[in-house]
Amino acid sequence: TRILGIEGTAWAASAAVYDTAAGIDAVFIETDAYEPESGGIHPREAAEHMHDAIPRVVERVLEHARETFDGPDSEPPVDAVAFSRGPGLGPCLRIVATAARALSQALAVPLVGVNHMVAHLEIGRHTAAFGSPICLNASGANAHLLAYRNGRYRVLGETMDTGVGNAIDKFTRHVGWSHPGGPKVEAAADDGEYIDLPYVVKGMDFSFSGIMSAAKQRYDDEIPVEDVCFSLQETIFAMLTEVAERALSVTGRDELVLGGGVGQNARLRAMLASMCAQRGADFHAPEPRFLRDNAGMIAVLGAEMYAAGDTLAIEHSRVDPNFRPDQVPVTWREGDDR
Ligand code: ATP
Repeated sequence: TRILGIEGTAWAASAAVYDTAAGIDAVFIETDAYEPESGGIHPREAAEHMHDAIPRVVERVLEHARETFDGPDSEPPVDAVAFSRGPGLGPCLRIVATAARALSQALAVPLVGVNHMVAHLEIGRHTAAFGSPICLNASGANAHLLAYRNGRYRVLGETMDTGVGNAIDKFTRHVGWSHPGGPKVEAAADDGEYIDLPYVVKGMDFSFSGIMSAAKQRYDDEIPVEDVCFSLQETIFAMLTEVAERALSVTGRDELVLGGGVGQNARLRAMLASMCAQRGADFHAPEPRFLRDNAGMIAVLGAEMYAAGDTLAIEHSRVDPNFRPDQVPVTWREGDDR
């Protein structure tokens, strides 16, 4: 099976082709990133970027699909078109969905509507070949702990306010660093020392707004920025690690996968790996190209959904900016109720 995936929930205008026979390592991905000139992501500018860049990245992956297709010229080079239906920025989602519908009609292949957060999770489960892991999704606009049970990915814990990456980006905006802030905080943290910041975990939920205000305040009070960056990482990632450990403990699962752009951070990975090692659990973080937003993960989950017959009629293909992972019936894991 060959699937064309399209992603465009926020900053990444991305397209990919996944051939199930060639395997995940051979997924071909083209991404054109939106880089705001100042400040964070402006929804209107991001949508303009999608409008410009989606046709380009789709054309490039279709070219690749045609070159690597050994079927007759009369057949389409892919079996289905999968796209991110949400969650994400409405104006961006609508452009991506319009492109996906048009392609599915032009190629005369089915349309598959993918939940972006479930795709972040499934790419880790696939690349690890894990059975039923706990998943920590640490992305820009979200932060969730998820576990599969009876046909859905259940949300065990989540942020009570902003997503984890967005929280870090708000701090770096205050400092005057360009978007995205995560990699800059990671680099600055190398030379930092620990200062106290608020640590907010309630049960399996967590909050980042207090820590962000405190971090901005410490910076304004002339605490060295390296110390604030170091302490931000230590505090936020310890909160995520605590909740991930609690999720493993209460469910009795022994596998953890990481998803989302913040998962590219080496300190977060090290903390999670060390927590898992201490309790005898397996830990897996996919390679960076599958962690940050990318159409590869959309194509890979799209292939599973397509194989399960989980396709979408055009009239039911509306996007959903608030699409939660637990709203998705997990059709591709039938018979597996752990
Ligand atoms: P979502 O998937 O929730 O829609 P998103 O679209 O913003 O989120 P992602 O690509 O998953 O996108 O994540 C982007 C975020 O990852 C940004 O907030 C960025 O600062 C953060 N990030 C990237 N690299 C690092 C890093 N090395 N350390 C920490 N954060 C990072």
